[in-house]
Amino acid sequence: MINLVLFGPPGAGKGTQAQILKNKYQLIHISTGDVFRFNIKSKTALGTLAKSYMDKGHLVPDDVTIKMLNAEVKKNPQAKGFIFDGFPRTQDQAIALAKLMEQKHSQINAMIALEVADDVLVERLLERGKYSGRADDSNGSVIRERIVEYYNKTDILKAYYQAEKKYYGIKGVGSISEISDRLCAVIDTL
Ligand code: ADP
Repeated sequence: MINLVLFGPPGAGKGTQAQILKNKYQLIHISTGDVFRFNIKSKTALGTLAKSYMDKGHLVPDDVTIKMLNAEVKKNPQAKGFIFDGFPRTQDQAIALAKLMEQKHSQINAMIALEVADDVLVERLLERGKYSGRADDSNGSVIRERIVEYYNKTDILKAYYQAEKKYYGIKGVGSISEISDRLCAVIDTL
């Protein structure tokens, strides 16, 4: 199994790159943001709860997110590996993920971070908000709140995976294919 965490602030391009990587390496792509949005559209209880946090640019509580992620992984018992996109976003989520991988007699092989400057992120998200229909992308203050959440709660995971010698940072600016080439160059060494 090969299990990757795609990492980076909102707007770094994780979703775009995950689509390319999942096809190339035959991995199951789990985007926690996508699962929450699917639940919002389907009007489930989970969706209603998640929406109340997402609309403010805040993280959904760990217990809810971890339970949902465990369920998504369990839906794919035959997977050759996973790309986690948008998870983990807190230290407790990282610990839960390590436990889950251990139960599968596996592990996270690498966290690969897309590094992009904040001003570029805000610009990209506002642009995406024009056509994505995502409420959290069309409002400048919600975007800034997401970036604040990222630096308060998520950025520390860099140190967590660095301590395990699993952290790889790559430049997230350039064409889509330039960036995916950089990602593949890391994955092919694993
Ligand atoms: P982006 O990375 O562009 O912010 P996502 O689609 O990954 O977009 O996430 C959208 C929102 O979903 C987040 O702002 C947060 O409210 C919620 N969310 C996604 N993943 C998590 C997570 N692992 N923990 C808590 N909340 C999450």
